[in-house]
Amino acid sequence: MKNISVIGSGTMGNGIAHVFAQAGYTVSLIDIAQKPLDKAMATIEKNLDRLVAKEKITEDDKVKTLANITTSTELSAAAESDLVVEAATENEEIKLNIFKDLDGLCKSGAIIASNTSSIPITKIAAVTNRPEQVIGMHFMNPVPIMKLVEVINGKETSAETTKTVMDTAKDLHKIPVEVNDFPGFVANRILMPMINEAILSLEENVSGVMEIDTVMKIGMAHPMGPLQLADFIGLDVCLSILEVMQEGLDNDKYAPCGLLVEMVKNGTLGVKSGEGFYKYEKGNKELVVASRFV
Ligand code: NAD
Repeated sequence: MKNISVIGSGTMGNGIAHVFAQAGYTVSLIDIAQKPLDKAMATIEKNLDRLVAKEKITEDDKVKTLANITTSTELSAAAESDLVVEAATENEEIKLNIFKDLDGLCKSGAIIASNTSSIPITKIAAVTNRPEQVIGMHFMNPVPIMKLVEVINGKETSAETTKTVMDTAKDLHKIPVEVNDFPGFVANRILMPMINEAILSLEENVSGVMEIDTVMKIGMAHPMGPLQLADFIGLDVCLSILEVMQEGLDNDKYAPCGLLVEMVKNGTLGVKSGEGFYKYEKGNKELVVASRFV
């Protein structure tokens, strides 16, 4: 296991490429256009600079890590990889197409993992001819900092694939936890209803943005309030996970609330669009509530 490909270079993809490259793996980072790839490389460099400044790694480690990553807009760049981690947009059609194509071009024996937050691994594996080598490898955001990786076994994932992926996660200094294939797995099954309820509380004017987050931070000892966390994850990602859980678990208790649907429709997606429940401006680290909620 030395050659890795990461498909999708957004919020998660750049972090996944970063941790593999820092652990000495050769990484091919693949996206549909050069622009997100350039942005991802700039983010990785910035995050490595931060680690150098904190004396967690040396300048030489940073140079080596960056040298381990190449970028491509062609999926075929994954052909020689031992492990492919797909972290493209949370959209079932997109992911099924990527897995169909990867299965056709990856060498036999290569493991294809998905970082999906909610789409069943068994469904993704079913479009390939290697379901025993398809698995979920669900990193948490921000990847370079968060230790947990949910390792999700599809119905046909082989024990050997699971062991390889568990060992690989440990090699990245992560803590892997094995989970069965249910919509939302464990992390989002529990997290997303909380975020949805926080947004509903705002919608129903139970309290304001800062107040709801403060209750959960101070009252429940959460490091970040649910509305800020939703901004950080991306409101489009939250919406899509809730929809998959509502359908997959056949239960309307997971139905996304109206305010979340409306904000995504308006392109108010959180940190990545510059505004969600809070406003995000370059250089300003203070939490500023978005004007519509003041
Ligand atoms: P994002 O929107 O930041 O990035 C997605 C990237 O995928 C974009 O750069 C897009 O151009 C690229 N992409 C789309 N179609 C592609 C294709 N056919 N081939 C290659 N690249 C393609 O999304 P994200 O937040 O990084 O989420 C990626 C995955 O990780 C999703 O499955 C999501 O559910 C999961 N995830 C997200 C978080 C989070 O906090 N954001 C946490 C855990 C898991």
